Amino acid sequence: MIFDILTIFPELLDSPLNESILRRAREQGQIRIETTDIRDFALDKHSSTDDRPFGGGEGMVMKADVLQGAVNHAREQNGPGRVILLSPQGRAYTQAVAEELSQQEHLILVCGRYEGVDERFRATCVDEELSIGDYILTGGELAAMIIVDSVTRLLPGVLGCADSAERDTFSRGLLKHPQYTRPRVFEGQDIPEVLLSGNHARIDEFRFLASVRQTLERRPELLAGVSFSAAEVKVLKQHGLHGQIMALQSESA
Ligand code: SAM
Repeated sequence: MIFDILTIFPELLDSPLNESILRRAREQGQIRIETTDIRDFALDKHSSTDDRPFGGGEGMVMKADVLQGAVNHAREQNGPGRVILLSPQGRAYTQAVAEELSQQEHLILVCGRYEGVDERFRATCVDEELSIGDYILTGGELAAMIIVDSVTRLLPGVLGCADSAERDTFSRGLLKHPQYTRPRVFEGQDIPEVLLSGNHARIDEFRFLASVRQTLERRPELLAGVSFSAAEVKVLKQHGLHGQIMALQSESA
């Protein structure tokens, strides 16, 4: 998979792209990440990438013609790709969107700065706008990194343990169960006994229930979209949780 990141601050991305899982995925050829300096496509002698807004008002606006040049360059280098503009006004980025993007072969991520980008660039060159949350960043670079990181870990063979992404929080609408490691006793707190039983069916059931309880307590709205197998429904009934979940699901229907 190829990620093209278009930015006026390419150095800002160096360290996150060169550590840990992203670094290994690049070295193993599972992903290719190319950063393009938007400034290289400036059309005037001052290398301007932004200008004052027509109609007046605060801040500067990134120029449509310069951004278009950078997108065309990425396409010439790596073929047609899905052009994503990072924007607080875009579709909310979630794990489901990350899964959707992980099916693509080439993403072109455009990082805005200042007051944002000229509307005509958005209308002409952008396939989709994505927002990583209801807050305002100084630029799209960190948002682009979040997309690269979360999509890369979903690609086959990137994570060490084959199923570790499948059981993550959000992958089926449940929060992940609590986890424990050594020492067995910490600050007077022992771990749940069942985890030492060696009985994998009991451990799975314990984790499933812990996951459902954690979701009910912290993010009940997520349960509206979760479907449970017949065996899971039986366990939920046995532990008095089924009615509560049914009520949540019918409320949101
Ligand atoms: N003036 C704009 C507004 O009110 O919508 C905000 C511009 S922001 C300071 C500059 C750039 O940061 C944006 O063009 C976008 O690329 C990026 N950005 C800021 N917040 C973001 C978010 N929540 N998700 C994705 N990108 C964001």
